[in-house]
Amino acid sequence: MAKYTGSKCRLCRREGAKLFLKGDRCYKTSCPFERRPVAPGVHATTRKKVSEYGLQLREKQKTKRIYGVLEGQFRDYYEKADRMKGITGENMLSLLERRLDNVIFRLGLASSRSQARQLVTHGHFTVNGKKVNIASYSIKLGDVIAVKENKKDNKYFTAIKGLEKSNSIPKWLEFNTETLSGKVIALPTREDIDSQIAEHMIVELYSK
Ligand code: SF4
Repeated sequence: MAKYTGSKCRLCRREGAKLFLKGDRCYKTSCPFERRPVAPGVHATTRKKVSEYGLQLREKQKTKRIYGVLEGQFRDYYEKADRMKGITGENMLSLLERRLDNVIFRLGLASSRSQARQLVTHGHFTVNGKKVNIASYSIKLGDVIAVKENKKDNKYFTAIKGLEKSNSIPKWLEFNTETLSGKVIALPTREDIDSQIAEHMIVELYSK
């Protein structure tokens, strides 16, 4: 599968927004977007009028980059969301939030979604007691996500163990810092998703 291997910070500058792709660094003053919030390239500061299509396209690219999803899979999320009851854009965001890599990030077990994806694919977690190493795995209501028993002594996880519960854990998840396990107590809704995404623009783009 094709994978973007370039600079993550460049993506933030391209989208004109902080996408929080580099964990802790994104919250520091060393964040390049804080210092130079313009698009990359020599014509970065040239003003251009962006068409409606262009704006919709940028919104889709931004959302794909936030969740680290490639075009084909992103389109699948849209199509699945469109078949569901309710508002397509909100359904799509909820499906993206339910990805296992995102849940690991939301639980505070990784500082970015890309780190979470790496931890998942390396087999560090279980869902309802069974090892799951698929980053796109979609969690369900009541699922229990935990650090695999034989990985709990790993230096990375012992540093997290016993830490005070972070306020940033969304209300649809519960996390026990002693057992390093979390539970899905509700499915995420639009109001639980803090990212600045205009999902209706993505729906407009795909429904053309
Ligand atoms: Fe984006 Fe984070 Fe890089 Fe800042 S540090 S530009 S928020 S990826």
